[in-house]
Amino acid sequence: MPVIKIAIVGFGKIARDQHYPALFDSPAYQLAAVASPDGAGPEGVDRYDTLDAMLDAVPDIDAVTLCVPPSVRYVLAAKALARGKHVMLEKPPGTTLNEVAALQRQAEKGGKTLFAAWHSRFAPAVEPARTWLDKRKVRSVDIQWKEDVRVWHPGQDWIWEPGGMGVFDPGINGLSIATAILGQPFFLRKGVLEVPANRQTPIAADLYFESTDGYPVSAVFDSRQTGPQLWDIHVTTDEGRLTLSKGGSQMFVDGELQHEAEEREYPGLYQRFAELVESVGSEVDATPLQHVADAFLLSERRSVDPFYWNDLEPSE
Ligand code: NAP
Repeated sequence: MPVIKIAIVGFGKIARDQHYPALFDSPAYQLAAVASPDGAGPEGVDRYDTLDAMLDAVPDIDAVTLCVPPSVRYVLAAKALARGKHVMLEKPPGTTLNEVAALQRQAEKGGKTLFAAWHSRFAPAVEPARTWLDKRKVRSVDIQWKEDVRVWHPGQDWIWEPGGMGVFDPGINGLSIATAILGQPFFLRKGVLEVPANRQTPIAADLYFESTDGYPVSAVFDSRQTGPQLWDIHVTTDEGRLTLSKGGSQMFVDGELQHEAEEREYPGLYQRFAELVESVGSEVDATPLQHVADAFLLSERRSVDPFYWNDLEPSE
């Protein structure tokens, strides 16, 4: 398989923490360039301020991986596809479902790979959980996704802007796992979104879904969590209770650890992207984003205390 010349677009937290190390370690890729405002990027790699400038200067790039906030993802993806590049999208794949559908059509028409990456689906216990559940009858599902936005998204104001999705930025990871491990579709029936009085997107959400079989799926997301962070999914079945813990890293059945392995989500994502590029196939599952869109369509909205990044902000 020829080495894929790839470029990172958007060199912020996730590009630094995960994409760059995964690409650096993979023999399947050559990191050809980085495009990010102010030329941010790792030492020793060609850096550009914009996608256009990068593609003009390094036209033989095969693929780009978009690590930008969702609000600019569509424009950059459409441009990269139009210039003949394969594209990998960080999650969520867009700010609207129509954007994702349009990119899918564009990739298909142009004969390029589009990969809507859901990194949490590559957590080590997700596939074992799917296999275990496949043979059992589900009675109920409880998703608890509670993390401290100040720790995981320090100062990222885009989270609170329209399209930033607020608590759904992490919560969609829980939904991406639930939709992968449950054999049945489920639909939102009601929800409550808590929106800080000074922000545009929810800081917490309490959602109630039902599967097509009629079992309940509840999801509680909260970005105000301090102390222990929770990324758990509990599934009660006719043969015991499965818990996926730590974002899909550990699997328990009736409290007993069944599966745990080293976290290699991003190496797994890039391996999958390489396979897709080789076969010029695409993988675009918008189901988790559909659930988030449904939550915005159907939920009750409550105004809660304003959110500030630190205690000093209100008086500044
Ligand atoms: P971030 O730290 O704000 O990084 C985004 C980067 O994109 C910044 O460097 C930003 O530059 C750059 N950018 C903005 N507009 C651009 C454009 N038009 N062209 C090129 N670069 C542009 O955000 P992040 O945490 O890395 O998150 C990015 C995406 O990854 C989000 O969709 C998020 O859901 C996903 N993700 C994040 C995490 C996490 O733990 N943070 C985990 C998994 C997935 P400026 O700052 O100069 O605007």
